[in-house]
Amino acid sequence: MIKENVLKVRENIKNACKESERSEDEVRLIAVSKTKPVEMIREVYDEGIRDFGENKVQEIMDKYDKLPSDIRWHMIGHLQTNKVKYIIDKVYMIHSVDSLKLAREISKEAVKKNVNMPILIEVNMGGEESKFGIDPKDAVSMIEEAALLPGISIKGLMTVAPYVEVAEKNSTIFCKMRELSVDIKRKNIDNVSMECLSMGMSGDYPVAIKEGATCIRVGTSIFGERVYK
Ligand SMILES: *Cc1c(COP(=O)(O)O)cnc(C)c1O
Repeated sequence: MIKENVLKVRENIKNACKESERSEDEVRLIAVSKTKPVEMIREVYDEGIRDFGENKVQEIMDKYDKLPSDIRWHMIGHLQTNKVKYIIDKVYMIHSVDSLKLAREISKEAVKKNVNMPILIEVNMGGEESKFGIDPKDAVSMIEEAALLPGISIKGLMTVAPYVEVAEKNSTIFCKMRELSVDIKRKNIDNVSMECLSMGMSGDYPVAIKEGATCIRVGTSIFGERVYK
């Protein structure tokens, strides 16, 4: 089941890349393993996947020691400042930096542990009230300030697009994300690269790839539906 799912997702990635004349190497598949047990994660790992996404600090802590150390853990969920210290030396990248306050805390803990933490700035491009992320119009000023902090590197932007029945409906949002990242890149801010554009989930990742995604976060299409207790 999982094997077939991974194959299918890889095939869809390949086709989306072909259609948009992009190289497959430009797209990193992050398997979103939240709520799923380590046994299932290991199955996905055995298919060659090394990037996994989680949205809860506790879950990363629980799974971290039980799984191979070459896994790249991506923190993709809302992160409270008081929990940064628990994951700072465990995760490969934090996608969900949605305030300067959080960026400052990550910086502080990274300096303490003597690491450099790659981060993405989460943008609420769809403007939904229920979603985290900064307003796109505040992105430049926020990034200019965060870029000055030691111990972090700003690698790009992340968004969680609205849930839609028809994936193509999100293409405008993905397109605007790319435009925003290009605008920011043009400013040549020190310590800001914009090499990562984290967008696209199970329902819309082929569309996101066509609009320039470099990281897609796919949960359900790999692991199956999530059951929340
Ligand atoms: C859960 C989650 C995903 C994966 O969603 P699916 O629809 O299951 O692919 C992606 N990104 C974030 C931030 C998530 O919380």
